[in-house]
Amino acid sequence: MFRMSTTTTATSPALAKKEEPPPAKGNLYTIVQGQLDKASKAINLSREIALILSQPKNELIVHFPVRMDDNSYRLFKGYRIQHNNILGPYKGGIRYHEEVTLDEVKGLAAAMTWKCALHDIPYGGAKGGIKFNPRLHSKSELERITRRYTHALGANIGPEFDIPAPDVGTNAQTMVWVMDTYMNVVGFHEKNAMRRVVTGKTIAAGGSYGRETATGQGVVHCITEWAKDRRFNLNGCSFTVQGFGNVGSHAAKILAKIGASMVAVGDYKGYIANPEGINPHKLAEHVAQTGSVEGYKHSRPITRDEFFAAESDIFIPAALELEIGEKEAKALRCKVVVEGANGPTYPEAEALLLDRGVDVIPDILANSGGVTVSYFEWLQNKRSERWELEEVEDKLERRMKRTYQHAADFAQERKLDFRSACYGIGLQRIEAAYSERGIFP
Ligand code: NAD
Repeated sequence: MFRMSTTTTATSPALAKKEEPPPAKGNLYTIVQGQLDKASKAINLSREIALILSQPKNELIVHFPVRMDDNSYRLFKGYRIQHNNILGPYKGGIRYHEEVTLDEVKGLAAAMTWKCALHDIPYGGAKGGIKFNPRLHSKSELERITRRYTHALGANIGPEFDIPAPDVGTNAQTMVWVMDTYMNVVGFHEKNAMRRVVTGKTIAAGGSYGRETATGQGVVHCITEWAKDRRFNLNGCSFTVQGFGNVGSHAAKILAKIGASMVAVGDYKGYIANPEGINPHKLAEHVAQTGSVEGYKHSRPITRDEFFAAESDIFIPAALELEIGEKEAKALRCKVVVEGANGPTYPEAEALLLDRGVDVIPDILANSGGVTVSYFEWLQNKRSERWELEEVEDKLERRMKRTYQHAADFAQERKLDFRSACYGIGLQRIEAAYSERGIFP
């Protein structure tokens, strides 16, 4: 499942075209802090609360050795950042990527705090990661890396304390390895209760129906609410997706079901387009076989620049953070950017988009379907229940739509951009909790 081809096939036209490489990325943590400052001013957040939220509560860095298939040892660096838990246990994904850094994980952990607070989900925010490229490892190496990382975290995670979930480069299988290791190393006294130490598990291991598709489904709920507000007909419209993994592929499949057409898509290896539409189901089969969208036969390869300039109604970034800079914002020809990925847009680029009349549905709302169904999974585990798919999907839809409309009203009443409104709602909930509880002692 994880092992993907790493050899470059015969030079594709996409790679052959000359293109400036994207510039080095900015610091996600600084950018998230800037967004926090902006929203704090907009809602008059107390200085004391802003001070508390300016740094994560806990920053864990672990180094652990893992035996490779050839019997050599390799040392890995892993992170777990626990940003805030005033509203409930820490919650957030685990990322496997070669560019994971402390500040990236800090930024992503902070975003989880605002996301859960925005939805009134009783969780705080966290994030974890290991700095390595999972595509270069066999399934058995991935299992040992995951189990050693979990062992290194030890009792720093737990079903009532800090609950990981999948993110870039990890999936349901990864979560099952985390769960199994945790149960056997830390929580062996009450094994069944320990299943909810992670969410996003396989169904067989206690996962929830609807979790795998939840983030993409949540993206689409935001799009349907946006379309309703803008009186825009989604049937027959076009969209483009950057990143065709869990979030991007499911959003694309669900959008196709309601009559929208994917005209361009890209991943870590390259970009492809077809103005007549690309079938996301067939593309997903191609990706499962080859590891990338590249080489899909019912399309032509395009450059990254051409991808951003491709005309479509909806643009869904669903890959990594900080992909939309000023250059990309000027190139985009869409009506709305729906942030499936966490932190895909630089603030300067967002300002340009808003000036041009392009709407931006911010990450903490747009991709919150994942943590919402993670919460449902955790509740099912806690109550020893299994909810039907329809029940999960109904609950998700209601919550996404309610939160979307709440944020839209908040933005309108206070004359705020959508992102500041979403942050503002979350921050007010956090402020209320702190002002009642105070700080110890
Ligand atoms: P994934 O690993 O399943 O997929 C990531 C996709 O991005 C892959 O198609 C990969 O090839 C592509 N990609 C990687 N680097 C790229 C690059 N430089 N340029 C273009 N494409 C690139 O990950 P995912 O779970 O789908 O997560 C995608 C984004 O959504 C991340 O920002 C993640 O934090 C966010 N997110 C995920 C969830 C979830 O439930 N999985 C929930 C909320 C937010």
